[in-house]
Amino acid sequence: MSIIKGAQVAEAVSAETKKRAEKLKAEGTEPCLAIIRVGEDGSEIAYERGAVKRMDKCGIKCMSVVLDKNIGQAEFEKKFVEVNDDKNVHGILLLQPLPKQLDIEPIKELINPIKDVDALSAVNLYKVFVGDKTGYAPCTAEAVMETLDYMGTDYTGKKCVVIGRSLVVGKPLGMLLLGRNATVTYCHSRTKQLAEEAKQADILVAAVGVPKMVKADFVKEGMTVIDVGINVDENGNMCGDVDFENVEPIVENITPVPGGVGAVTTSVLAKHVVMAAEMLK
Ligand code: NAP
Repeated sequence: MSIIKGAQVAEAVSAETKKRAEKLKAEGTEPCLAIIRVGEDGSEIAYERGAVKRMDKCGIKCMSVVLDKNIGQAEFEKKFVEVNDDKNVHGILLLQPLPKQLDIEPIKELINPIKDVDALSAVNLYKVFVGDKTGYAPCTAEAVMETLDYMGTDYTGKKCVVIGRSLVVGKPLGMLLLGRNATVTYCHSRTKQLAEEAKQADILVAAVGVPKMVKADFVKEGMTVIDVGINVDENGNMCGDVDFENVEPIVENITPVPGGVGAVTTSVLAKHVVMAAEMLK
């Protein structure tokens, strides 16, 4: 049984990214990520801080663009386009959720797909579906793949059950697994006999948003369990979608929360910024 530490995966991904960033700089291009934040939400600021730290470690410049929480749609789009058109910016991370008065849909069309390093646009989601490596998968979905790759996973013919079908995590992750020749089952809130479905998996991914929902009866010996969830438990502590305490003794491999997939996400973001800078230089 082993607990997979996200920090180790993140370091492995970042080492390669740093080399690519150094090469770009030697050639006269300084890779740069613009982080756009609307307002002062605490969890967004925490994610931003983690992203800035990771970019710094990888030798990537960060530009923070903070907009007033009451900004109107027209002004928001205008500011977004200014960043999008800035030749010194290679990747854009728009922190979410946005305040209620703002609609993200026009941004998905406005963003330059090459700068769309967290895969908001239809172009990048399409590329995930067809397996075109010139696009980006959403960072969290790819962070799951990086974690499994780090473990030396052979996906061919493996049964993968993904609980969750959101556009940012579950759906694209299923496509990435399929692209590696896994046999993929999606589960969601209308799935009947969820525990039995989950138990069929060689690799079980929980991307649900329900604290400790994956219990001991969802798993079996030999299974790998990847916990994407970021929740707060009844005592105010961060926890995943998996009941770690009761699941960990049964399964072969498991990622903890905190310290699992979440730690890998920003290193995937850094990799995407370097890819963007290589394409735009
Ligand atoms: P989401 O958009 O709310 O989607 C949740 C998915 O889970 C939906 O497909 C939903 O089914 C399904 N679901 C909800 N309740 C369920 C239940 N009781 N049984 C089975 N399926 C259920 O959430 P998300 O954005 O994908 O995020 C999922 C989790 O990952 C959250 O905890 C989030 O905080 C975390 N997350 C982590 C990272 C990271 O870096 N580690 C990044 C993003 C998100 P329906 O489609 O039927 O509604």
